[in-house]
Amino acid sequence: MRYSGFTVIAQALKGHTGWQPVWRDASPKSAYDVLIIGGGGHGLATAFYLAENHGIRNVAVLEKGYVGGGNVGRNTTVIRSNYLLDGNTQFYEFSMKLWEGMSQALNFNVMFSQRGMLITAHSADQLYGFGRRANIMRLNGVDADILDRDEVRRLVPYLDFSETARSPIHGAIFQGRAGTARHDAVAWGYARAADAHGVDIIQGCEVTGFVRDGERIVGVETTRDRIGAGKVGLAVAGHTSVLGRKAGLELPIESHVLQAFVTEPIKPLVHHVVAHGKEHFYVSQSDKGGLVFGGGLDGYNSYAQRGNLGMIREVAEAAVDVMPCISRLRILRHWGGVMDMTPDGSPIICPTPVDGLYLNGGWCYGGFKATPASGWCFAHTIATGKPHPLSAAYSLDRFRTGRTIDEAGVGPFAWLQ
Ligand code: FAD
Repeated sequence: MRYSGFTVIAQALKGHTGWQPVWRDASPKSAYDVLIIGGGGHGLATAFYLAENHGIRNVAVLEKGYVGGGNVGRNTTVIRSNYLLDGNTQFYEFSMKLWEGMSQALNFNVMFSQRGMLITAHSADQLYGFGRRANIMRLNGVDADILDRDEVRRLVPYLDFSETARSPIHGAIFQGRAGTARHDAVAWGYARAADAHGVDIIQGCEVTGFVRDGERIVGVETTRDRIGAGKVGLAVAGHTSVLGRKAGLELPIESHVLQAFVTEPIKPLVHHVVAHGKEHFYVSQSDKGGLVFGGGLDGYNSYAQRGNLGMIREVAEAAVDVMPCISRLRILRHWGGVMDMTPDGSPIICPTPVDGLYLNGGWCYGGFKATPASGWCFAHTIATGKPHPLSAAYSLDRFRTGRTIDEAGVGPFAWLQ
């Protein structure tokens, strides 16, 4: 259904009684060919690509809360493909290409805004390291530029270029195709498109255990019903190790909280995504005018989806260090999400040693940008029983063999190396 501006206003006055739901409120069937646990970006994208790419439509996504209530709706929406190491470089660039066609593919505007991302360098050595990263990106067909101090100043004059700056800026690495997207829209777009293919999206349905036939997993216990499955895919982000343990898997994953902040709205100031190359601070400006920014990870393990005062102080210090002009802005909201951290900072997409169980997790700080590629490759892995060539390096086995992809959290701080 199409809505005119008048209809939108009329509906607002009538209490939203005439909206068409964008996906069905499905009740669980007794069994499915594939069950996906976790209705975040990754689970929904996987369900969509199972149907779209592999014709597997007898699929349900089981979500304990509501679609968009997890990290997919809590992140700072930075999308980039500025990775250094083999495996990551190709995977994240593939993801970027999927982002570039996502609104058309889903017929849903995810507001992908390729405004460019800049990471400041604060020493000659750091700028040299950025040069190496940019060369590797370019050799892999990814756009990258190195900017000198004057070029950075022209692009982002509001940073501290004064003689007394605590962190003098030497230059920057810039990816013009990087940017942001509307995170809720990504969840809704995949949910709607999966639903249109016949996928059941079942909210308020927590998976509490696994049903086995011998060694094989053949279904799940939930807070609603027992549901049978040909195959089960796990895409529960910060709760990966909790569910993994229930299935008999000890995973090399720890859960930590990552926090984000939004300020009161101001006139357009920050036209790119800007990251401090020396401290834990990165920022973009929302369409409403608020500065959306994030910082570092809480140092201890936690499942608490909330912020804390200590991190406000740490991030505010880093913000004012490079961008003193925002020192008097008020923070409006502040929240947290639970990150599934792996030892090498890279994710896991693979079949598991447990027959019938497939794993997607360990996204650390950086899983939002991976959403489409993750869904694409995980769907391939579930459908064929084999890793997709682009995610083959993201095996669980690598922690045993030592073939890790050590990119330091591949998130806001990969560039601090
Ligand atoms: P989620 O949305 O968390 O989905 C997992 C779902 O599983 C949840 O909805 C949860 O309710 C459900 N679930 C859990 N247990 C069960 C169960 N037992 N039964 C049923 N359902 C269950 N990434 C970027 O690329 N760029 C960024 O700028 C960025 N910034 C971030 C900033 C913050 C503050 C945070 C918190 C994260 C950030 N991330 C960023 C990381 C990114 O958000 C995550 O890596 C990614 O969203 C994780 O995948 P997901 O969307 O599937 O997770």
